[in-house]
Amino acid sequence: MEEKPVITVTSPLLPDLEELDALLKDIWQRRWITNNGHYHKELERALCDYLKVPYISLFTNGTLPLITALQALRITGEVITTPYSFVATTHSLWWNGIKPVFVDIDPETGNLDPGKIEAAITPKTTAIMPVHVYGKPCDTEAIQAIADKYGLKVIYDAAHAFGVEVGGKSILEAGDLSTLSFHATKVYNTVEGGALVMHDEKTKQRIDYLKNFGFAGETEVVAPGINSKMDEVRSAYGLLNLRQADRAIAARRRVAVRYREALRDVPGIRYFEDMPGVKHNYSYFPVFVDAAEYGMTRDELYFKLKERNILGRRYFYPLISTFSTYRGLPSAAPSNLPNAHRMADEVICLPMHHLLTDEDVERIIDTIINP
Ligand SMILES: *Cc1c(COP(=O)(O)O)cnc(C)c1O
Repeated sequence: MEEKPVITVTSPLLPDLEELDALLKDIWQRRWITNNGHYHKELERALCDYLKVPYISLFTNGTLPLITALQALRITGEVITTPYSFVATTHSLWWNGIKPVFVDIDPETGNLDPGKIEAAITPKTTAIMPVHVYGKPCDTEAIQAIADKYGLKVIYDAAHAFGVEVGGKSILEAGDLSTLSFHATKVYNTVEGGALVMHDEKTKQRIDYLKNFGFAGETEVVAPGINSKMDEVRSAYGLLNLRQADRAIAARRRVAVRYREALRDVPGIRYFEDMPGVKHNYSYFPVFVDAAEYGMTRDELYFKLKERNILGRRYFYPLISTFSTYRGLPSAAPSNLPNAHRMADEVICLPMHHLLTDEDVERIIDTIINP
């Protein structure tokens, strides 16, 4: 049989090279290549408009905003978080000397189950760090109600939630701070990059200091900041990519619609539907394989796809709570996290990006229906 071309799980959104070249020439002329330059300011403004948020601070990746958010809010002690995420979520706590406390997820959404948060609160708890997994909004109202009751801060890892809105409002407005990742693999990228979204100018000021060593002026250092500034080249690249973000998301949506239509009646294959009132970004298309019903385990299907040059990914397997750094924590016990374990054991993220052709999508569907 003829070898079929490789279909990757994602493909980076790339700006037009000639347009980028024009902006690079401008940067060369300005001879100002980092430290809150022209394109850095332009991109912050453009992102505020696009995302419908009041204040944003650009970062050099999506992990340092998490670490910096915890610094900015002076979070210590214990933080309640989810094991079902990319490992950077929990690592940001570790880098701040904070003890992660894992709480199980809601099997219907993959997000932190608000009904299980209160039981995990101790006198040392200072914050909750949920993740809008796959860009699906968390139950932000329920989480905020708990945070208010116990005086806790809420920092959302919104790395997957670029452009996601609930009832016409950005999901990034929930909680005290939200972080974004603009990594190459995300819906919107600046090659590497990220951001923090905040509610007020004073917080933006403080975070802008923290990402620049704590400098509040030429000779004044007000905090033990880090270096996490985004440079002019990536800011300009990001400005161009922002112009195509809507088109890329629309292309992804078409793929999601086709996947759902084709997989609707396949026994043992479950996926998420769109949520009413939510503007989704179609960043991922996870399917969950019930081995007994489907007749094949997740891994069997995963490797079958791979054999046919279809490279899905098992996001998020293994769970963060199973890695050596964290598995000794009492909250990491599998008996505490049954829903997260089940989801991690059943998930495959199917290829999802703006360049998938109809032929690619049909090949993927056919492999799932006739494995
Ligand atoms: C990608 C991602 C991050 C980290 O972002 P980087 O830009 O790769 O540093 C953090 N959290 C989640 C949930 C992610 O998917």
